[in-house]
Amino acid sequence: MRATEKMICIICPMGCNLTVTREGTTVLRTEGNTCKQGLTFAEAELTDPRRMVATTVRVKGAIHPLIPVYTEKPFPKPRIFDLLREVCQLEIEAPVAMNQVVLENALGEGINIIASRDMPRMST
Ligand code: SF4
Repeated sequence: MRATEKMICIICPMGCNLTVTREGTTVLRTEGNTCKQGLTFAEAELTDPRRMVATTVRVKGAIHPLIPVYTEKPFPKPRIFDLLREVCQLEIEAPVAMNQVVLENALGEGINIIASRDMPRMST
């Protein structure tokens, strides 16, 4: 069935307002996009929507109790809350290096969770 829906393209900071005409998950036409990436975004959004996820993980023996982490690639949007529940259970040990994998192959999606900064041990 043919339908039209509004989306905001999040590929770049322009944030174009798209009007997407689709037949099921097939994009027939996009309007409002400043570049061709808007069409790519609309197609992905209808078939396999993904988002980068940034959150924190508890870290033991460090100068701060939490370390910021992020997904190394965009994660499937329908599973983001499951991912956050899993990450919430984690507690890692200091020291942690920037870009260290803190959770490998999260939820079996083939995407690692990475530390976004160094986290030294607390000096005693
Ligand atoms: S359509 Fe192009 S210019 Fe507009 S937000 Fe998407 S990537 Fe940026």
